[in-house]
Order: sequence, then C-alpha cells, then structure tokens
Amino acid sequence: MDAREEQARLDWLRDLVESLALYADWGVAHFVVAPGRRTQGIVPESPAIPVASAAATRPSLTPRPAVAAPRAAAPEPARPVPPEPARPAPPAGPAAGQPSANLLESAEEALPRLTPEEKASQLEALRAEIGDCTRCGLSAGRRHLVFGEGNPDAALMFAGEGPGADEDRTGRPFVGRAGQLLDRMIEAMTLRREQVYIANVVKCRPPDNRTPEPEEGATCGPFLHRQIEIIQPRVLVLLGSVAAQYVLGTRKSMGLLRGSVHRHRGALVIPTYHPAYLLRNPAAKRDVWEDLQKAMGLLGIPVPKRGGSPGGA
Ligand code: SF4
Repeated sequence: MDAREEQARLDWLRDLVESLALYADWGVAHFVVAPGRRTQGIVPESPAIPVASAAATRPSLTPRPAVAAPRAAAPEPARPVPPEPARPAPPAGPAAGQPSANLLESAEEALPRLTPEEKASQLEALRAEIGDCTRCGLSAGRRHLVFGEGNPDAALMFAGEGPGADEDRTGRPFVGRAGQLLDRMIEAMTLRREQVYIANVVKCRPPDNRTPEPEEGATCGPFLHRQIEIIQPRVLVLLGSVAAQYVLGTRKSMGLLRGSVHRHRGALVIPTYHPAYLLRNPAAKRDVWEDLQKAMGLLGIPVPKRGGSPGGA
C-alpha cells in the first residue's frame, strides 16, 4: 500500500468515525454502507431516491387545512384542531421497476401515525420540556427561544439553521428578510405559510449570527429531530448546509447534497440553499426553484406554468 492509498484509507476511517458520532447524536440505529462507495461513507436508512422515479410513483396529496401552531412562549393547553381529511390511498401496487413506490410506502410506515390532535399536543409537550432552556451556551445571549411554528399536521416542513436578530426579537422563525423570501418561496409553491411547519436546528440565536458550534447543534438538534418525528411531514426541505448536514448526518457540501431526494425518519428530504444565501447570491434562486418543484412533485402539487423563480430571479 503506497502513501496515497494509506492516506485515502485514513481519510475514509475518519469520515466513518465522524458519521457514526453524528448518527449516534441523532439516534439513527440502522444504516448501511453504500456498496462500492467507500469514500461516500454511510447512507442512513436508504440510498437517495432518484427524483424522477419518486415523482412518477407519488400518491396525490391535497394540502391539508392549517391549524393553530404552538407558540414559542409558555406552553398552552391543546387547541381544537379540525378533523384530518383522509389520507389518499397509496397506489394499488408498485409497478415492476419502480422501487421508489416501496420507499414511499415504507416512509409512511416508518413511524406510528399520529392524529392532528396528538401532534399538536406532543409539540406543546416538547415545548414545555424545553422550557426556559439553558442546556447550551446560546441561552446566554437570547431574548426569545424560537421553537418553531406552523401546522402541526403539515405535509411540508422546512428546517433551517438557527434564529437571527428578527427571530430572536419576535420569538418566531424566519420573519426577517430571509423569512420574507421564504414566504415568497412557499407562495410560489401555491401554499400558504400557515399550511407548512418551520423550525431550526438550534432554537436560540448564535451571537452575531455565527454558525452554531457542533456541541450547540448536538445539544439542541435532537429537539428538531423530535419535531420531525411528531409532525411526520411527507416532505422535509432543509434550508442551508448546516441544517442538511445535521439532519442527514453528513459532512457533504450543499453542492453535493442538492439534486437528490434523501430520506429521514419517514420523510422525503430535499436539501436546498438557505434564503439568506439567496439574498447574497440571487442567481441561485433558479436552483432553489428546481428543488421546490421537486418537493411539489413529491407532494402531488401541480407546478404552475410560469417563468422565473420565487423572489424574481
Ligand atoms: S439553543 Fe437549544 S439547547 Fe441551547 S439553550 Fe437554546 S433551546 Fe437550549
């Protein structure tokens, strides 16, 4: 074995150890090593799903009515929630050569189904459990803890990195300039903000909007993990590389993660650029619009015939 092969072997072992540590943080119990792709590390739950085949076998999905979201402040009693419309029946059976149908069905079966009332109640219980949290150092500089908000029974969930100044001031996620752009992205998907759920990896604002430290993400990230398990979105859009790396348990860049549909805890996962990045790099809006159209396809939402992209790129 020459020096280059030895270095490649050491790099692979380091990636493996880092990946195992990340999955341990996230409680991922089952994984497989992608055959023939040693340097690609571990693929949690299942390989990425080719977008075209996943969309071709999707069940239709009617956006469900929005219900009141839990507030970021003190826990509240459960609010009345309209009855959930019946979920569309899955396709009669996967056609030969369409394995993604099985993947979609297994995604549905991965977690016990919760009623909208149970989801709202469990989210409020989780918020109460977090309480006036001082589990990590980010508590020292926060004004408001930003738990997340939206429809507890949302079919579509967004997760970002952490609160900024406007979110810290209001206690609500994505309400600053980046949040306004996210609102336009949601509207471009022919949805309303109240129909989706929005949360972050860390619930308290990092000083000067810096990237959360690994230990901060490891401490707070499990709360996002539990929000995903409770809400059970069909599609989870991860905004930015920090959210994508935490949820998917990888060190890969957004450039490598974009373009495929991943899976996490029963949700079909689409990583894309953070709206704050789009404010600095408007040309990337076209890439994001492509990703959002994939999400619409997986949700069974018709893509409107229109030019351009959300935010007017
Ligand atoms: S960031 Fe999360 S873990 Fe840290 S203090 Fe805030 S709520 Fe607690």
